[in-house]
Amino acid sequence: MRLVPRGCPVNSLPVEQFRGPIVDAVRSHACVIVEAPTGSGKSTQIPQMLLDAGLAGKGVITVLQPRRLAARMLARRVAAERHGKLGDEVGYQVRFDNRTGPRTRIRFETDGITLRRLHHDPLLRDTAILIFDEFHERHLYGDLMLGLAKRLIEHDRPDLRLVVMSATLDTAELGAYLPGAAVIRAEGRTFPVGIRHLPPNAKREKAPPWELATEVLPEVLRDAPDGDVLVFMPGVYEINRTLRELQRIPVAKDRLLLPLHGQLSPAQQDQAATPGNQRRIIVATNIAETSLTIEGVTAVIDSGLVRRAGFDPRRGINTLLTGKTSQASAAQRAGRAGRTAPGIAMRLWTERDHAKRPAHETPELLRVDLAETMLQLKLTGIDDLAAFPWITPPPPQALQTAQELLTVLGALDACGRLTAHGWRMASFPLHPRISRMLIAGDGQQCLPTLCLIAALLQEQNILLAAVDDRVRARRLGLVGDTPVSDLALLLAAWHYVSDRHFQREAGEEIGVHVQAARTAGELQEQLLQIAESQGLDSYEKQPEMEAVYKAVLTAFPDHLAVRSGGDRCSLSGGRRGSVHPSSIVPREHALLVAADIQETGKGKGTVEVTLSLVTAIREEWLEECCAGAFRIRRRIFFDAVGGGRVAAEEQTCLGDLVIRSRRLANVTSDEAAEVLAVETAAGNITIKAWDAKVEAWIARVNLVATHCPEAGVPAIGAGERTALLAQICHGALGAKDVKAAAVWPVLQHWLSAAQTAAVEVYAPAQIRIENGRTPRIHYDDPAGPYIAMRVQELYDTNRLPTLCNGAVRLKAHILAPSQRPVQITDDLARFWGESYAQVKKDLRGRYPKHEWR
Ligand code: ADP
Ligand code: MG
Repeated sequence: MRLVPRGCPVNSLPVEQFRGPIVDAVRSHACVIVEAPTGSGKSTQIPQMLLDAGLAGKGVITVLQPRRLAARMLARRVAAERHGKLGDEVGYQVRFDNRTGPRTRIRFETDGITLRRLHHDPLLRDTAILIFDEFHERHLYGDLMLGLAKRLIEHDRPDLRLVVMSATLDTAELGAYLPGAAVIRAEGRTFPVGIRHLPPNAKREKAPPWELATEVLPEVLRDAPDGDVLVFMPGVYEINRTLRELQRIPVAKDRLLLPLHGQLSPAQQDQAATPGNQRRIIVATNIAETSLTIEGVTAVIDSGLVRRAGFDPRRGINTLLTGKTSQASAAQRAGRAGRTAPGIAMRLWTERDHAKRPAHETPELLRVDLAETMLQLKLTGIDDLAAFPWITPPPPQALQTAQELLTVLGALDACGRLTAHGWRMASFPLHPRISRMLIAGDGQQCLPTLCLIAALLQEQNILLAAVDDRVRARRLGLVGDTPVSDLALLLAAWHYVSDRHFQREAGEEIGVHVQAARTAGELQEQLLQIAESQGLDSYEKQPEMEAVYKAVLTAFPDHLAVRSGGDRCSLSGGRRGSVHPSSIVPREHALLVAADIQETGKGKGTVEVTLSLVTAIREEWLEECCAGAFRIRRRIFFDAVGGGRVAAEEQTCLGDLVIRSRRLANVTSDEAAEVLAVETAAGNITIKAWDAKVEAWIARVNLVATHCPEAGVPAIGAGERTALLAQICHGALGAKDVKAAAVWPVLQHWLSAAQTAAVEVYAPAQIRIENGRTPRIHYDDPAGPYIAMRVQELYDTNRLPTLCNGAVRLKAHILAPSQRPVQITDDLARFWGESYAQVKKDLRGRYPKHEWR
């Protein structure tokens, strides 16, 4: 279905034109895809249309939102449009904030909340219609929920209705994923937007976005004087910096300066969303890209940056990273200036940079670590993630990495099943490392400190690197003389600025980024709320630091390192690394866990890493904290350096990393024989008695085995050689014993008497030829057995005997008197007839004393 609005009435939103088709489509289709531009009324109107048409029956219309702020604001708006109280007919639920009630029929919620709801209500019984809003953003949980919803419709909930909405959709991909879905596409009214880029100038490109935005503002206000200005910044910090800069410039004097982001009060958020009398400059996160429409904007200033979830390999967790936006996202942002009148969009990057940007955002699924997702799905009863109906399947390597991490964290057992710990971890809306860490701190008088550590790890490093010596010394003075962890310094520095209300001067005194520290504090509060809501005991008077360090170890067992000398370390997976010079942990601590690991290169088959935020670990903690990966094993080995003896040691390991080895006294003779046999087979030990005769015997056995299978003689291959060696080495304790070991007694018993007799007959050591001589047969040539004789010794012989009952022709190496071969042949008669005359001519002169017939 393709519908284009015809002359929209001024006071009605574009989707209003499609009320009939939308209601009909949802009535008759399990899945409906709605594509309409931002501001058409999708989020606020469609849920109401479906409710008013009675399509939800007695059930709830659940609207999934990728963002908390959008869920809250949409619920408030829709409740107001329906003249109701928030939490009555219309409500919302986001993390830490539930405004729904028993009468709620339209429920806006973040997709993470819906996913968790599935744990105790796997069929989503209360929901009649599930609406996926802003699906083009391709958040991981949106993808995941759509897969789960698709399965629900196909199996247990054929009555459930799905509506997938977005401003820009790849409807072809989605249509193929939801076969039979009705597609409704509404085209909006937009005005032209003039797009401007920064002129090519490398210097300006590197300036902070708030400076660039301030620089371009006069031009923007000159060319678009009548409307509001919308500025896109990646996060709260950049928004605040921008507002501060803008306050200083005269052209912005008569404008109302407003922030718009998720951490504001509802009143502040509404103020930014609703136009007033005064002209405004709104500085927003990408919430204003498509989630919320601000009326009256005629100019956009776009930093071209976004804070999005991604995997940070340094800390081994998903975190928010600031990066460049895609071309599609830039086009959306620019479009915000052309809703009500022609506008302009000022991009704070060059055209050259623009051309290099990706066309679209990568789905979050392909950017983040999937451990948390895997845990969530396991809890929902979905064990095989490779078989899950993904709209975009994750790379198999990503699934394997997730599985390995969950196993080492003890959330999954060796068969990939959820453990008791895993069940508990899955109920936390956090990365499994962090939930594992908080669980470890339960009732240990350290939970708030752990929450702070988790928060500090998620944020950018609060400790500034470029500080002068006086500042550094002041900072170091915050911890005692014998620090065991870099985290202690981080915590002390945070407390220092927190006690001084995050004032800039306090930060400058000890080189701390106060804004990052403040954000970490807020995050700590949230984490603590989660921990408490999960029933963890968070009492802490004086943090129990040993418990803190143990908990950190449980969260990062794969970041354990053993110092091998100085700052060099070994890690699991054959990785090698060194401790970052900023670490304050003294070198005498041999066992460390790093909260931050940075890959710095790849050497000969090994990965080179730098370890930061390290903590000294005591060996006895390993078994307690990392039960899933801890083991003690007995290793038997050949000690080539220590006298060539077989030795045993007890290795304490975490995964494949050997933490410590202890020499053991006793090695059983079986163990010794096995190791020595392997060393001998590898050529590291030579048995004196294993000479050419032995090899000849083996060659004879193999010749018979190959050519006279009826004799029943088994061949001696690599495996049999090792078995022979193990028998020869039996009773030996070191290389010396093996060198002197007897070989023949073992060989003699290898074959039965009948088999030995068959070898003697079919592949004898010597053989009688026509002239009565009995030369030895050589078996060392892969081309076949031969005799080697001087010409004179072969006189009176025209035919050579055969071996193996006629199956193998014997060859003759015919030698000159000097023992140099003159010909190799298996046809002596021909030699005498064709070649002998010439041979005689050549040799007679040189060897006149010999007989020449
Ligand atoms: P869409 O989802 O298609 O982008 P919405 O349903 O969010 O559209 O918005 C439709 C209209 O309602 C827009 O013009 C927008 O300005 C207005 N609107 C939505 N939410 C609010 C709000 N909280 N305050 C003021 N106006 C709003
Ligand atoms: Mg919307």
